[in-house]
Amino acid sequence: MPDEGREIVNRLVAQRVHLLKIHNGLSRETFLAIAEEAKRWRLPFDGHLPAGMTIVEASEAGQRTVEHVGALGPVCASNPAALQQGRGAPPPTEPIEIDRPRCEEALRRLVRNGTWLTPTIGAPGQGIPRTRAFNLALVRMAFAAGVRLLPGTDWPGGGYWRGQYATASRTPWDDLAGMVEAGLTPADALRVGIVNPARLLGIQHQLGRVEAGYLADLVLLDADPLLDIANATRISAVVANGRLVDAAQRQRILDSELAAQKGTAQR
Ligand SMILES: [Zn+2]
Repeated sequence: MPDEGREIVNRLVAQRVHLLKIHNGLSRETFLAIAEEAKRWRLPFDGHLPAGMTIVEASEAGQRTVEHVGALGPVCASNPAALQQGRGAPPPTEPIEIDRPRCEEALRRLVRNGTWLTPTIGAPGQGIPRTRAFNLALVRMAFAAGVRLLPGTDWPGGGYWRGQYATASRTPWDDLAGMVEAGLTPADALRVGIVNPARLLGIQHQLGRVEAGYLADLVLLDADPLLDIANATRISAVVANGRLVDAAQRQRILDSELAAQKGTAQR
């Protein structure tokens, strides 16, 4: 309900929240009411694309970030009906065609509005091949158009929507590797992972660089991620809050975390 949406925004403003997360279940009217109220308070709103909106409409309404590349699907597919997958039926195999002029126009609007996109493309090779090929092409086009990308953590994965989280690929590293599969260079993908989140949050003068005066939050790797993005996971040591966690100490923390998780699972 639009009035309820406005009221909730006002309540959250009073609680001094930093941003609103948009849910895909919002109706168009409720979303637009929330957007209007949020803009009045200069409160950023990020998140999913509401079902009744196109990504361009959400961008024009001021949504700051849109999560999941699927949000581009309906404005980019030549035949949006081809995106529908019958439950239970074997997925079709023919490629999903892109209406390039329409897609590029949509991407230009996102760039003009400064809308960020979190593709959540997941690790290389994941998902239904035709959907993946389509999504990879959209990520490539979005990046080429100048849309600012962000690393995500909730690629849907096989069975994710059924609650089988173990099969989902849920780390930003997977996402960055997926972006390289889409055609970004490892350096571009690392910028997405390291610099863009700091810029989004307006803390680019504190994070995103190794330089005097910046926060010392960084990882030391055993191999060059510019040669192979997979090397970004070969972490040797961590510097967190300016404190060095060396390899041995890091391993002890990981081991005890794993043991604690097992303990919880058995209970
Ligand atoms: Zn999500």
